[in-house]
Amino acid sequence: MQGVTHPIVKDVVLVGAGHSHVTVLRMFGMKPIPGVRFTLISRELHTPYSGMLPGLIAGHYGFDDAHIDTGPLARFAGARIYQDEVVDIDLEARRVICRDRPPVPYDLLSLNNGSTPNTANVAGAGEHAIPVKPIDGFLARFEALIARVLARKGRTRLVLVGAGAGGVELLLAVEHRLRRELAQAGFDAGGLSFVLVSDTPEILPSFPASFRARFHAILAARGILVVVGASVSHVEAGRLTIDGYSPIEADEILWTTQAAPARWLAKSGLPLDSEGFLTVDDTLRVVGRDDVFASGDTIAFSTRALPKSGVYAVRAGPVLADNIRRSLTGRSLTRFRPQRDALYLVSTGEKSAVGTRNGLTFEGGWVWRWKDWIDRRFMRRFNELPEMAQPVKPPASAIADSAALKEISAIAMRCGGCGAKVGATVLSRALGAIEPAQRADVVVGLDAPDDAALVDTGGEKLSLQTVDYFRAIVDDPYTLGKIAANHSLGDVYAMGGEPQSALAIATVPYGLEAKVEADLSAMMAGANEVLRAAGCALVGGHTSEGAELALGFAVNGLVGRDAALRKGGLKAGDALILTKPIGTGTLLAADMRGKAKARWVAAAIAHMVQSNGPAAEILRRYRVHAATDVTGFGLLGHLVEMVRASDVDVTLATGRVPVLEGARETVALGIFSSLQPQNLRLRRAIRDVETAAAHPSYPLLFDPQTAGGLLASVPLAEAVRCVAALRAEGYAHAAVIGLVAERSAVLEPVTLDAAGASVEAALVERLNVLPTQSEEEHAAESVH
Ligand SMILES: Cc1cc2nc3c(=O)[nH]c(=O)nc-3n(C[C@H](O)[C@H](O)[C@H](O)COP(=O)(O)OP(=O)(O)OC[C@H]3O[C@@H](n4cnc5c(N)ncnc54)[C@H](O)[C@@H]3O)c2cc1C
Repeated sequence: MQGVTHPIVKDVVLVGAGHSHVTVLRMFGMKPIPGVRFTLISRELHTPYSGMLPGLIAGHYGFDDAHIDTGPLARFAGARIYQDEVVDIDLEARRVICRDRPPVPYDLLSLNNGSTPNTANVAGAGEHAIPVKPIDGFLARFEALIARVLARKGRTRLVLVGAGAGGVELLLAVEHRLRRELAQAGFDAGGLSFVLVSDTPEILPSFPASFRARFHAILAARGILVVVGASVSHVEAGRLTIDGYSPIEADEILWTTQAAPARWLAKSGLPLDSEGFLTVDDTLRVVGRDDVFASGDTIAFSTRALPKSGVYAVRAGPVLADNIRRSLTGRSLTRFRPQRDALYLVSTGEKSAVGTRNGLTFEGGWVWRWKDWIDRRFMRRFNELPEMAQPVKPPASAIADSAALKEISAIAMRCGGCGAKVGATVLSRALGAIEPAQRADVVVGLDAPDDAALVDTGGEKLSLQTVDYFRAIVDDPYTLGKIAANHSLGDVYAMGGEPQSALAIATVPYGLEAKVEADLSAMMAGANEVLRAAGCALVGGHTSEGAELALGFAVNGLVGRDAALRKGGLKAGDALILTKPIGTGTLLAADMRGKAKARWVAAAIAHMVQSNGPAAEILRRYRVHAATDVTGFGLLGHLVEMVRASDVDVTLATGRVPVLEGARETVALGIFSSLQPQNLRLRRAIRDVETAAAHPSYPLLFDPQTAGGLLASVPLAEAVRCVAALRAEGYAHAAVIGLVAERSAVLEPVTLDAAGASVEAALVERLNVLPTQSEEEHAAESVH
């Protein structure tokens, strides 16, 4: 997928998308080393920037302002990105052990995985307090806290434990946000109370007295009670027990005490200090290991103590990148020299901040604006990356014909997955000239093409035969294996069959034997997981070396003699149902260009690995008449195949078609799969196409899908309950998207109804669904 031109010689694995690793990725993106491949393994794909976190909590920033999107960044760096949690390192075999995927081999490893909350030492804190670390989970926990405060109409006693800079800043941000939320909801904020508790004799213990004094004044002015020298010994629901003090009642408890190391490090065999942090030397190399670096909160220097602060993790980034480069190229390493007296700017909830440097302290709105300027400038380095080079640029002098130039440029950016399919028109022209041998036992072949061929092998059931093969659409071979297998099974499910056996065909890029083996193993492990879950035996295959990673399967299935679902089974009066959202083509094309958000791509992948098997089973229960799987020719292309084979008209409610998050945005940017133009030719099947084309989802009707959902027709009377059953099974976006009618005299068989009023009206009329009632609500009623 990265268009690999050099065989991979070294694998650098980065664990955690922390503040140093984002700089490593950026710097290697600017200046890659041929043959060196980076893989980022991170629990979260959008990494919060600690400097902007309090502003996000206070409500001054949106999610994307305060998070670095690792998707485009990894693409820029030519890095693979695996969303997973690391649970161990096998130092001997040089492999990273992950929770949900096969081990990841490395030649060089770097750890920037942050820290965890220190709740372990206080009984009950783990169960009853809300930890601020890991930050990536805190945002959801904070949203839940806001909802509870609103439910109590504001009457809430909130206690925050830990009075370092992070704790004080967070409490002021929380206080500001809660008052604002309550005011917006029309509640009195007078029922809110706040307490700051710390076991240190002072708040902000590592800061100058003048800085502390400012914060004492600010906390007092906001009515926040400060309890210092108070060691919490026990936490239970609604109460904190404190040595030497009366217990404190609390409805909400936030926990921001000293950071603790990740627990899994203890069993890794890596050298740790007395608290369990990784010991590194001044070059950020883990002591005693030539092949492991580490940075950020997870480390302790063997030579000196340094606070756990995002500032240092940021500062270490360029040194870490440089030393990884030096290590790979056999040069001596440089030392990390953290600044002695860092500039600290700590915000106070509203748009104001207090700063300190070299013993000086300053405060005001201007300090917040200064901090905001510094933070935004930092974020721009990662969220506004230089344009990526196009993979192939034909010399203009070589091609005088601009149309040909355009076509060649398009070829240069051709998509993988089903976007790499040959267009429907090209295919039918090429196959039109072929005359296959005629055999009585071929029930469905090229003369009436369907999702799979049907062959009578003389048994009780008919044999379903289908093959799919495509270039990699994701850089992760394990995920590619899952998607390819799932995609190949789709044809069998669409025909109403059960998968029986599969043969694999794989192409792996040239490279060192160990690298080829690792990629192939991961790819086949992913594929086999999916095939096993489907009860489909992997019985053989063929592999070869080639320029790009590619994978496919020839799948055999079985179906009862009269049970095969055909594309031509649509009946007037049916409702059209789509089981998964569309948009994978444009999102993957955008991802190739570094223009898709990591969370959009992750959601698209989640849909691509979701099996169509259970959906097929549910459709059968609701008397399905016809089905197909939506793949390369896009929703409209596959619908037209069904409409023509069934000799009916259909109305498609464009606005009801489920769409993946981000797909409308990438289409609006003009980013399409390379197969889109060929799919667009099918617009001639649409009535009054000029008007229909105005809808923002219209281009997505032609978007090629990889491992797309099932498009099926069921009797209208069954449609709502069928959709509810699909949603309950995990097809959260399943929807009624259209209606089937008798064939009319009008040439074009497809009508697009942008607002979906006709579908809504049919559901209301036939099923007595109130226009405002959701399909689930109605289904629930009709069950009782
Ligand atoms: C409320 C609050 C405010 C703060 N404000 C500031 C501030 O203004 N300035 C400042 O300098 N510091 C601040 N800090 C401290 C700062 O957040 C941390 O020091 C900083 O985030 C540490 O950065 P890091 O790069 O080490 O790790 P992190 O930024 O925590 O990143 C760790 C990464 O590793 C990933 N990860 C973790 N475990 C695993 C695993 N097992 N497998 C895979 N991936 C994993 C995570 O998903 C994440 O991507 C604040 C802290 C808090 C709590």
